[in-house]
Amino acid sequence: MRKYVVMGVQGSGKGTQATLLCREFDLVHISVGDIFRWHVQHHTKLGAQVRRTMAAGELVGDDQVEAVVRERLQQHDWNYGFVIDGFPRNGRQAEFFLESYDIDGVIHLDLPDEEVHRRVLNRRLCSRCGMDYNLIADRPEVEGKCDVCGGELVTRADDTPEALAARLREYHGKTKPVLDIFRRKEYVVSVDARPDPDTVQRDIRQKLGL
Ligand code: AMP
Repeated sequence: MRKYVVMGVQGSGKGTQATLLCREFDLVHISVGDIFRWHVQHHTKLGAQVRRTMAAGELVGDDQVEAVVRERLQQHDWNYGFVIDGFPRNGRQAEFFLESYDIDGVIHLDLPDEEVHRRVLNRRLCSRCGMDYNLIADRPEVEGKCDVCGGELVTRADDTPEALAARLREYHGKTKPVLDIFRRKEYVVSVDARPDPDTVQRDIRQKLGL
């Protein structure tokens, strides 16, 4: 059983790296942001509660986040383990997580803020299947259309300069201290997130001894 957390600023490739790791080791990828986006897209009650907060680039309340994480992990579909991304994002969430689950490692994707701006403002998302694109490194074959399902590519509601600035503030103010909590427990491997995805993945596996 392998249980990992992926942490990093927006646009650092958390989703991409989690997906690559899960594919190789048969782990389940749990993205808290994706779960919230699903609720917003499907107009659920929770979606209505979190839509504005998300669009502003602010953090959703801890109770809602913990409920979502607890419910997701209780599904126990992760026979070989999981990679959770986008959680925990503040001290309280980290404590909740450490009290309830033992983890094997925290992967910290390190990316300078200038590079975050460049990546995030060029990010597009398929409105149908959720696939991520980047107009710099990972362009779709047909402009504006998803390679996988043909759905329309859109900009995430929180990928605007204003929301990005808010998210960077949240990250530096609240999420970095979480890394310090994990560092004290010697869980953290830090990886340079600037190279291409395969190189970053190799570095992660090497540092985790996989
Ligand atoms: P992400 O896709 O991880 O960037 O998450 C998108 C948005 O979902 C964030 O900007 C928050 O509004 C919300 N969100 C995701 N994970 C969390 C979390 N652990 N705590 C609070 N809000 C979260």
